[in-house]
Amino acid sequence: MMDCKQATRLLSEQQDRNLSRREKFALKFHVFMCKACRNFGQQMGTLRDLARSYAKGEGNTPRQSEDSNSNDK
Ligand SMILES: [Zn+2]
Repeated sequence: MMDCKQATRLLSEQQDRNLSRREKFALKFHVFMCKACRNFGQQMGTLRDLARSYAKGEGNTPRQSEDSNSNDK
């Protein structure tokens, strides 16, 4: 299984290039298992959306859902 270092690298690389099927599968599997990388991937997605709407010249920022209620206990 790939480690977090590889996973985060692929997460950022997939913004610029198409990953191979093998890479995608390994990455998906890792992200499924690993919460840290899942969060990282979501941040990457958010950043890309922001950059995209910025590039379009749209002033409106996308709505952000705040899920700060982490009551584990
Ligand atoms: Zn990870």
